[in-house]
Amino acid sequence: MQRKGRICLLGWTAVLILSFHVFCGPAMPSIQDFPIQPLHAPLPPPPDLSSAVRRALHEREGAVLIARPSSGEILLEYRTPRCRGRKFPAGSLLKLVTAYAGLEEGAITEGTRFLCPAASSLHPKEVSGQGGNSSAQVPPCSDPDGHGFIAVKEALSHSCNVFFFQLGRKLGRRKLSHYAAILGFGKKTFGKEAGFLGYGEDSPLLDLLEVGNLFQAIARKGRGFLLHNRRERRQAFWIRPGKDSFRVIRRALKEAVRSGTAQRAAPGGFSATSSEDPGLFSSLSSPPQILGKTGTATFRASPRGNHGWFGGFAPAENPEILIVVFVFNGRGGTTAAPVAREILEVYFREDR
Ligand SMILES: [Zn+2]
Repeated sequence: MQRKGRICLLGWTAVLILSFHVFCGPAMPSIQDFPIQPLHAPLPPPPDLSSAVRRALHEREGAVLIARPSSGEILLEYRTPRCRGRKFPAGSLLKLVTAYAGLEEGAITEGTRFLCPAASSLHPKEVSGQGGNSSAQVPPCSDPDGHGFIAVKEALSHSCNVFFFQLGRKLGRRKLSHYAAILGFGKKTFGKEAGFLGYGEDSPLLDLLEVGNLFQAIARKGRGFLLHNRRERRQAFWIRPGKDSFRVIRRALKEAVRSGTAQRAAPGGFSATSSEDPGLFSSLSSPPQILGKTGTATFRASPRGNHGWFGGFAPAENPEILIVVFVFNGRGGTTAAPVAREILEVYFREDR
């Protein structure tokens, strides 16, 4: 009886203490009081970049595509009259396909080196004119002194023709077109010689969207949504690399902007109009890391001439913006990359 009474007393004491807390104590938070944090903070609405795009092109003929890598939504597509409804050769951008194919097929590893000799060390008969068709000839490289023994990351960031000529030849046309289709180019008619195709000569004609989807695959590391307009239904893609190929390519794109052919897209890079202009990036406390690749394509059909590409995205992790710039009668490193930089400066400015 005594034990029962003690238990009963303890029970009533507990009820009294709880009642005191409920009625007189601090209010218990309800479910509405807990802020519900989204897994990823939503991105701020994109600034209107259309005037920045027109300004950055500096009255050149060209085209620009800007998209959100996370959703695949195209934010802006701009084409001057000469670039509407047309496709252009991808040029050196095709080296990204060759690198991916080479790594995936095991034709190269990150450390495999090929020799890029100085042009002066080759017999004139060994050097092809661009678009040459003798399989014994080596194309001239962008660096007349040659890059020496060079591996894939540096070959991409410095756009070495000789490395990708040799890799393209090793892979063959069938494998190159297979991986080009995987990376968003669809079924294309490729040139005859795999070596020339490997470094971007003899490349298929591409439109902005196809180039955009190549960079979307790299930005999203193989998994995401294809680029689309807001009104279109979005379509997922899932490329499952067997190797660590996207990591190698992303490192190369970082290096291209830091010290390679795409330096003029970088914070502090030169403007398209003035080499004196430090640009808006210099005023940012933490400028974003930009990843990108340039391409200069020689167009033999009408209209002839060189055309410049830049494709890239920023920042490196969880990229917010993807950009493709095409400049008619321009070059990738000196014309298209600074245009991209001027647009990215407006996008990333601190008061957005
Ligand atoms: Zn080279």
